[in-house]
Amino acid sequence: MENKGSKAKLYRYIGDLRECLHIDSTVRGFSIPEICRERLGVMVTEIPFKTPGLRGMAYPETKETQDTIILNAHRSKHEQNFDCAHEYIHLLRHRTNRSQSFSCYEKVRPNQNPFFEWEANEGAAELIMPFQVIIPDFVEYYHRKEEELGKEKAEKASIAMLAGKYHVTPKMIEFRLNNLKYELAFYCAGCDIDKIEPLSKRQQIQHNINMDRFDFSILINNAFREPEEFDFDYYFEVY
Ligand SMILES: [Zn+2]
Repeated sequence: MENKGSKAKLYRYIGDLRECLHIDSTVRGFSIPEICRERLGVMVTEIPFKTPGLRGMAYPETKETQDTIILNAHRSKHEQNFDCAHEYIHLLRHRTNRSQSFSCYEKVRPNQNPFFEWEANEGAAELIMPFQVIIPDFVEYYHRKEEELGKEKAEKASIAMLAGKYHVTPKMIEFRLNNLKYELAFYCAGCDIDKIEPLSKRQQIQHNINMDRFDFSILINNAFREPEEFDFDYYFEVY
């Protein structure tokens, strides 16, 4: 299962991968299927899957075939972008033998390794939407939209803008940002984004941190209602 510091370790691994692929922090909205095909030697194809909830499959290379990813043609291009990244992380980190393949569904199934699925999802999210890039983008757009449209509409409008920029769906952006509330809080409290150590949901629970109680406007405007319940010094000491 997930180890202590695994989110931070995984993010460092993905950072190295981005560097190898020459994707620096200024690059947003790239096509993972294109990168797989053109730069990683992975065959990517799409088929209209009939199995409900099936999003993607990955097959490690054999003597006769190269690494292959199959995506669901019924899904949108932005959805497929994420699905492809998810499958690529499996090929990169989870292959144990040539006969092993991966079939990934909307929800993790009992026969799947939940840690592998967590890594594939978290790794895909970090590859496409690195926290050190998307958090400052979100805060900037949020402030801009707050000024333009008011507090009520700022969240939705900035999420829609980010979805266009990063080539994923607004739902994926929302999910990603909800997962990054801990890191977002540190950034909004004035911490250098490069110095923030990511903490997984599981680790947050272990340290009694419940970020779900804070909505984005509170975090972005750094206005905690109960500041003693979110003691930055204490949480830095955790490491
Ligand atoms: Zn998977």
